[in-house]
Amino acid sequence: MPGHVWLVGAGPGDPGLLSLLALHALRQADVIVYDALVDERILALARADAARDYAGKRGGKPSPKQPDISNRLVELARAGKRVLRLKGGDPFVFGRGAEEAQVLAEAGVPFRVVPGITAGVGGLAYAGIPATARDCNSAVAFVTGHDASGEVPDAIDWPHLARAVPVLVFYMALKHLDRIAALLIAEGRSPDEPAAVVSKAATPEQRVVVATLSTLAEAARRSGIEPPALVVVGEVVRLRDRLNWLP
Ligand code: SAH
Repeated sequence: MPGHVWLVGAGPGDPGLLSLLALHALRQADVIVYDALVDERILALARADAARDYAGKRGGKPSPKQPDISNRLVELARAGKRVLRLKGGDPFVFGRGAEEAQVLAEAGVPFRVVPGITAGVGGLAYAGIPATARDCNSAVAFVTGHDASGEVPDAIDWPHLARAVPVLVFYMALKHLDRIAALLIAEGRSPDEPAAVVSKAATPEQRVVVATLSTLAEAARRSGIEPPALVVVGEVVRLRDRLNWLP
């Protein structure tokens, strides 16, 4: 509807993972405000005459400030546009969708949220790694590898996280992988536990490095694997040997 904003998750990459609502939004929207993580093949599904508004980092320039993006959404809606705010994965998982939705709510702009497949579930599945498996884990945690300042988050209760949750899925963690692995080992995780980095999951450039908690950071460096990447720690990583279905 004109004057409405749809906050939509585009999934980890493969356009086949879009929801029907996401596809509908791509076909209807007047303006698409999208992030760096949104796959080009997905943008190609948009209405040919839709305005495309990039809200990510480009060519080393700093990314637009979050309040600027939120205010832009309000402005576009008030101008009577059908606005699609398109984000990688799920908009409410480490995607700052909650912040944007709050600004829209405060401004009285009507919006809806269309969940997407988050990289920590769908991206791992493309690497043949299930987030849960009955014999391995009955809990899984999604953890951010850096906080607003770019450092390893100290708001995380590392001792409890390390002890209580058998499978840990880290977003934005490649840069601090050494430190994260050391913290987990210091809190009692076995250095020999299987762990993996999954880069550019569900895209044609997907790469996976499997090692152990103590060797993963070095293995990742040697491989030259690049972000965006997930780090997964836990016995489920072993299942990839049998479940790596991607041709
Ligand atoms: N809202 C997104 C997450 C955004 S935070 C979601 O739900 O998936 C950005 C981080 O997500 C990246 O640093 C990386 O850790 C992860 N990520 C997103 N897409 C990815 C992909 N295709 N492959 C691997 N990791 C991905």
